Amino acid sequence: MHKTGNVVVEGVAIGKIQFLNADYEEQIKRYMTGTEEEEKKRYQEAHTLAKDDLDSLLEDRDSLSENEAEIIEAHQLMIDDITFEDAILGYIEQKMSAPSAVLKAVEDFKAMFEEIDDEYLRERQKDIVDVGNRLLRKLLHMKEFSVVGADVILCAKDIEPSIMAGLSEKQVKAILLGSGSKTSHTVIIAKAKGFVTMVGVELDETEIADGDDIIVDAVKGEIILKPSEEELNRYKEQVQKQEEQRKYLMGKAKQPAVTTDGKEILVSANISRPTDMEKAVEYGCHGVGLYRTEFLFMESAQLPDEEKQVAAYRSVAEQAEGNLCVIRTLDIGGDKHCDCLSLEEEDNPFLGFRAIRICLQQKDMFKVQLRSILRAGLYGKLAIMIPMVTMLSEILETKQLIEEVKEEMRKENIPFAEDVPVGIMVETPASAVMAPLFAKHVDFFSIGTNDLVQYTLAVDRGNQSVSYLYDYFNPAVIHSIHRVITAAHEAGIWAGMCGEMAGDKLALPFLLALGIDELSMSASQAPVVKEQIRNLESGICDVDKILSLTTTEEVREYLQLSLIHISEPTRHAQ
Ligand code: PEP
Ligand code: MG
Repeated sequence: MHKTGNVVVEGVAIGKIQFLNADYEEQIKRYMTGTEEEEKKRYQEAHTLAKDDLDSLLEDRDSLSENEAEIIEAHQLMIDDITFEDAILGYIEQKMSAPSAVLKAVEDFKAMFEEIDDEYLRERQKDIVDVGNRLLRKLLHMKEFSVVGADVILCAKDIEPSIMAGLSEKQVKAILLGSGSKTSHTVIIAKAKGFVTMVGVELDETEIADGDDIIVDAVKGEIILKPSEEELNRYKEQVQKQEEQRKYLMGKAKQPAVTTDGKEILVSANISRPTDMEKAVEYGCHGVGLYRTEFLFMESAQLPDEEKQVAAYRSVAEQAEGNLCVIRTLDIGGDKHCDCLSLEEEDNPFLGFRAIRICLQQKDMFKVQLRSILRAGLYGKLAIMIPMVTMLSEILETKQLIEEVKEEMRKENIPFAEDVPVGIMVETPASAVMAPLFAKHVDFFSIGTNDLVQYTLAVDRGNQSVSYLYDYFNPAVIHSIHRVITAAHEAGIWAGMCGEMAGDKLALPFLLALGIDELSMSASQAPVVKEQIRNLESGICDVDKILSLTTTEEVREYLQLSLIHISEPTRHAQ
């Protein structure tokens, strides 16, 4: 049986399917309710099993982050909460089955937490749902989630970025998501890990069960459920070719990316944590074009203090072999939540309190981050990058704060790097329009197409139902990019790109023709993009011609035609 989906990370994978999200309601419908006594007994047994699981999770403490350990401890308290248990037993006495009683008690507690005027306690709703689901899995005899075995193709409606971050490349070969657009943060992490990934995939557990064979063809956008022997053999050959191609590219990964007419483009890495540096170096990235520091905040229960931040930024700087690492200041908000900052829930988080807006209101917190970057700058080449800029005042205020923290550190005799360049992400229409002015006040631009597209085209980057409108080849975005790179060069500063467009081979002819200086992407994409650059001439396409095109389709078509001229080795690399 064949299914389709939208390709995010190209490739072919063969493996065994494993579902992540369980459909509890469906399972409850099939549940055979016993007598009141039996239901109470089943609940008590489920409670014991669930508690044992939580205890054994904590036994392996070394494998957990601080935040994960705290969450499990909170779950241990919650599962033993007497009012929660009384509520469940009370519903069983009202003739409900044990699983329905658990679901109902969870709903009640969720509603109660929702009323609370404290962000931290409101957030505990998630814990009660987690604990309830753990009890349900025991009652319904469902498996606990853990990736089992190797060659796993993971299938879920959605996966939390933190769960995605914890998945092992040794076990997982491909990810199939029901929701999630190409630039949601979960998907960005999947890409960084090099998982073959498709979104918009709908699989039903009645069609295929955990452990069944599956082929993911994320070149054609096809999924083959329970493949035939012939299909398996055909795809095994393709996987082998893919592996040979990977080896070929890895052999050249550390060579520079120089166009056929001699222009070097720096290809650097987008990272979320210092441990990503190992892969960045292995895949031949030239330093870091974007360090998403918010992950340091999202993965801590408390605000990371100065020493913790210095250690993280220092570790990145030291691993970068002397190359520049661009540290983006906290970009929390939008689809990135953080327990350690009490932020109000918003109706339109992407248009709300996010990134530099938060930092400039919580200056004490921001100053700790700025101090940490400057201090870590002594151990390598670091730059500071401000996200979500819309106004000149945000740049000037940040620069003023940098001067303030430098002065403070001088007085405290704390050594720091004096010359850390300051740049901005150009990811809002306002910053693209104002690029000629902003360029006079910063050392570099990095174009964040993920947000630039969503804000320019008024399309939520995570909303699958409008994803057909989300396209960086839309002429409005193309004109913005042209404006930004031109403004940077006129002001004598460098311009890079760190949004997902930077890793797209179709965008390369346009970006090279505009004279882009740096491209930053998931490390796993770097060897392919570098090889493509080596086979292209920088003037391969006519910028004026592209700017005269009126539709997204015309832009794509023109770029596809310009790629036809590329020589054989690049085709080999695709
Ligand atoms: C972007 O917006 O393009 C970007 C790189 O930042 P993020 O995806 O983290 O919002
Ligand atoms: Mg962004």
